[in-house]
Amino acid sequence: MSEKRVRVRFAPSPTGPLHMGGVRTALYNYLFAKKNGGDFLLRIEDTDQTRFVPGAEAYIREALEWCGIVPDEGPDYGGDMGPYRQSERKEMYREYADRLVDAGHAYFAFDTPEELTEMRERLKKAGSSSPQYNAITRESMRNSLTLSKDDTDALIADGVPYVIRFKMPRNEEVRVHDAVRGWVVVNTHQLDDKVLFKSDGMPTYHLANIVDDHTMEITHVIRGEEWLPSAPLHVLLYEAFGWEAPVFAHLPLLLKPDGNGKLSKRDGDRLGFPVFPLDWTDPATGEKSSGYRERGYFPEAFINMLALLGWNPGTPQEIFSLEELVAAFSIERVGKAGAKFDPDKAKWFNQQYLRSAPDAELAEEVAPYVKALGHEKSPEFLAEMCRLMKERASFIREMAENGPYFFAAPTDYDEKTVKKKWKEQTAHIMRKLTTEFKGVEDFSAINLENVFKSFLEKEGVGMGAVLPNLRVLVTGEGMGPGMFDVMSLLGKAESVERIEKGIEKLENAAN
Ligand code: GLU
Repeated sequence: MSEKRVRVRFAPSPTGPLHMGGVRTALYNYLFAKKNGGDFLLRIEDTDQTRFVPGAEAYIREALEWCGIVPDEGPDYGGDMGPYRQSERKEMYREYADRLVDAGHAYFAFDTPEELTEMRERLKKAGSSSPQYNAITRESMRNSLTLSKDDTDALIADGVPYVIRFKMPRNEEVRVHDAVRGWVVVNTHQLDDKVLFKSDGMPTYHLANIVDDHTMEITHVIRGEEWLPSAPLHVLLYEAFGWEAPVFAHLPLLLKPDGNGKLSKRDGDRLGFPVFPLDWTDPATGEKSSGYRERGYFPEAFINMLALLGWNPGTPQEIFSLEELVAAFSIERVGKAGAKFDPDKAKWFNQQYLRSAPDAELAEEVAPYVKALGHEKSPEFLAEMCRLMKERASFIREMAENGPYFFAAPTDYDEKTVKKKWKEQTAHIMRKLTTEFKGVEDFSAINLENVFKSFLEKEGVGMGAVLPNLRVLVTGEGMGPGMFDVMSLLGKAESVERIEKGIEKLENAAN
């Protein structure tokens, strides 16, 4: 018998921007699909019309595309098993709900909101900590189990609003096998009679999710841990329909940096890091949240970082391209314990990608930032600047913003260096050194370094007495990339001019 083709889905509800935990779920689904030569689907679960947020679906697609985890099937991606938006599949769910009613696994419930509140109040008074509509309480409610067939039909015919509820078996053990957690066993007395079909003609998440997973031939359900409590109901629904259940894998939570609780949508900007892949403006309130893309993260670094939040390759390797992740990924190496998000580690990943990027590419990316600072430089100049700066930056923009001396002569000079290193005889030594530099024909870093070293020897002065002063004269700063590289890039005329002007200023200041 041939094995079933692996098909997985990412099934977000478009109720707002995609949280980075959601991106990780999508990523693991994608990796699993590609690893197994299968399909990765995007399904939009928009049955709850009250929570619909305009722009959220477009945001989800843009975020996935930015990350490079593009669905094989989905709304606007094509595929034979669509539509991939549940609101467009609305018509088909009722039939499945009816099937369950006919088979005795579900029933009509006519209770009004007041009656439901009254029931809960009554149970609370009687000491119940979780008053719910379940195998016991349904017996005293207004539903097709307590009413006669004729009464039920009459109510429906009269247009009395109703929902369809799942008839939870009484006191049975449900066993859910989870690929991450092993067996999870729950007794049905802990579960309620969930609504499957609402009075507005829409299915609830539970029904639509199961029907779609079955009809879209989903083989593995990989989703966040917050859905684990729903899994027993889902297993029972598969049984009730007589369908084979997919393999379940519930991913560990993403935790706050201090490990105390789930990383929530609110944490990000409050703690100074993004929790969303892209910037987002809430259409209702205008509230803005920042995204990794706009903060200057490479999508490759973001994905790499997310992949390791909950999965480990079993080796010390940390840097993985998307292809390498596909090759290395397995559900067996997904952990049970919550994964602590570390914003510094996220930066570290970005820095690694920055360092390994080709200078010419970085030059293109840094150009807009340089322009924003009011400067224009040739691609060759920027490429060399990036080569010098990339070891000292985590983000593209920092290469422009942390090196003002690449664009203009310094106007002030690092006080600490001057105080410590600028001595009485320094101006005299620096003037002599300038004369040497003026004589260098080919103003390359290596030539400058040689000239500098022979100068030190000839004068009998130490590196530590001269180099920091040279740097402060040319760049205004106490630290930075290779001094002779910087001077070579700036050129002879500019370097010499800066040194001479600087000597004058510092000399005057000292007197
Ligand atoms: N619509 C659910 C969500 O928003 C999907 C859960 C699942 O994957 O079953 O996350």
